[in-house]
Amino acid sequence: MMYDLARNDRAHIANQAAPAFSLIRKFCACGKASTAKQLSQHGKCAACALAAVRDAIMPGDLAKLQHMLGAVKQYPKSKWGWRNYYAAGGGQAHEAMQRLVAAGLATAGRAANEMTYFHATRLGCKAAGLDGAGIKRAMEDQS
Ligand SMILES: [Zn+2]
Repeated sequence: MMYDLARNDRAHIANQAAPAFSLIRKFCACGKASTAKQLSQHGKCAACALAAVRDAIMPGDLAKLQHMLGAVKQYPKSKWGWRNYYAAGGGQAHEAMQRLVAAGLATAGRAANEMTYFHATRLGCKAAGLDGAGIKRAMEDQS
């Protein structure tokens, strides 16, 4: 993949040479405007990047991610992110967590009593539908 490497190098050099480069408006393949920085780093706009992440996990995984963050309809959206952990033993729950980790949506934390505690990443919070305040809350509370 020499071509991609060279392209990344060029983007990197361009970013160093001209900081303003990252703010130039460009367009994603979906037609949405995005920044050159976003496109050079991810190859697509933030919405498409999130959609690609959602495609990489199983349908039930997102529900587990939302449960992890308390982002469920029992709580008002203003409270989402009040928790950020999911204790998984073996089996399906653990496999779901591994997929979330592989997709960059969660990280594995401490293990205790044959359970592993998983926590949502910033990207995971976005995928679960949290807003800026919710993400901040979730990043602070990983107990
Ligand atoms: Zn797009």
